[in-house]
Amino acid sequence: MKIIIHRGIDQIGGCITEISTERTRILIDLGQNLPNGEGHIQDDLANSESIEKLTKGIDAIFYTHYHGDHLGLFHLVPDVIPQYIGNVAKRVAMCRHHRLSLIKGREELSARELSKMERMITLEAKQIIKIGDIQVTPYFVSHSAYDAFMFLIVADGKRILHTGDFRDHGYLGKGLLKTIRFHINRHGRVDFLITEGTMLSRLNEKVKHENELKKDVSQIMKQYKNVFVLCSSTDMERLASFYAANNQMNKRPFVCDDFQKSVLDIFTETAGKESSLFDFSDSYSFRKDNDKLLHWMQDKGFCMLVRATDKFNDYISFLGSQIDISNTVLIYSMWKEYINPGSKHAVKRYLDFVEQFPKVEKIHTSGHASAECLAEVCNLVNPTTGIIPIHSEHSEEYRMLSIFEELKSKIITSTVTIENVTVEIPNRQKN
Ligand SMILES: [Zn+2]
Ligand SMILES: [Zn+2]
Repeated sequence: MKIIIHRGIDQIGGCITEISTERTRILIDLGQNLPNGEGHIQDDLANSESIEKLTKGIDAIFYTHYHGDHLGLFHLVPDVIPQYIGNVAKRVAMCRHHRLSLIKGREELSARELSKMERMITLEAKQIIKIGDIQVTPYFVSHSAYDAFMFLIVADGKRILHTGDFRDHGYLGKGLLKTIRFHINRHGRVDFLITEGTMLSRLNEKVKHENELKKDVSQIMKQYKNVFVLCSSTDMERLASFYAANNQMNKRPFVCDDFQKSVLDIFTETAGKESSLFDFSDSYSFRKDNDKLLHWMQDKGFCMLVRATDKFNDYISFLGSQIDISNTVLIYSMWKEYINPGSKHAVKRYLDFVEQFPKVEKIHTSGHASAECLAEVCNLVNPTTGIIPIHSEHSEEYRMLSIFEELKSKIITSTVTIENVTVEIPNRQKN
């Protein structure tokens, strides 16, 4: 068997992992590189020719979740290759691509994206999928994208756990260790753990539980009548925190735009059936000519989900003339570095957007596993042969985690052959 880490050993995003036997080859994720601060994406693989070459002979592609750094190159994959994604994840991705299709000059690209996404085969947690002599089982994980999976892959008598992006400090994170204990470890040892290590380069970042974040949001909402929120429009658990905090306020409307409303509706129809925390039924789509909603917002105040786009700049300047600005705040709920002007990760679009608000509060917690959580998962899985940290700028630092001593020697960050398995890490020399 062979494991190829095409990308991800020394970068966050752009994840592509290949697992193959003599007969079968599959990919886990086909992500695009993350954009730079100006919004430009530098990615040698983001063209049909490169993806046709990379996917030649591939029997199936499995996506852990709908973030672009895992899913972004799906539209370049030839139709003969089946692509798999979570059922709800597919709906959210379709919704997003429908919105993108409204952007002028993007028609051809959007048509292609929508038709490829439409063809994707949907996955359910714990469903066993056989591709040739490789068996893949998805297990639910909590992440800043809903309907995300880790994959257990069985091939040539070896068991590989590919975690994808995950965390344990979200509302849905409490099942993580149980899933590993009762579904993965129960049926035998894992040989190779391929795990995310995003937080290895952000060890000083405070990781609080989503519940704590909700309490902090409530405090801010009590101080301000008008609350704008800049957060990811597809992070269901974060949206739930804002929705729940707003529900505690005196009948303030929870406002968003059409696109966000469609995403919230998907969550209400799916996760909302399992837990009322994800039932966003009481949310309202803003339009400048909706006087009734506008009067309600003026009267009671509001919580409004916004994005850093021209449309929202227009909404905000429209609302600005009709509400008390001194009683207004923007809660910025994304990674702090995006609006740190001195950071290499600073995003101009966000910086400009945030600047128009006199008061800004930063309330965020990561979508990724903390150092403690990574160590806990690693020790619990306790793989027999190898640990391959991906989705990290500092994969080698995985050995700094408080993991069992003997596991430290199993960390793989360059090409090696071990126990009849070749782990190939292109662009890196053999140890
Ligand atoms: Zn990612
Ligand atoms: Zn992600």
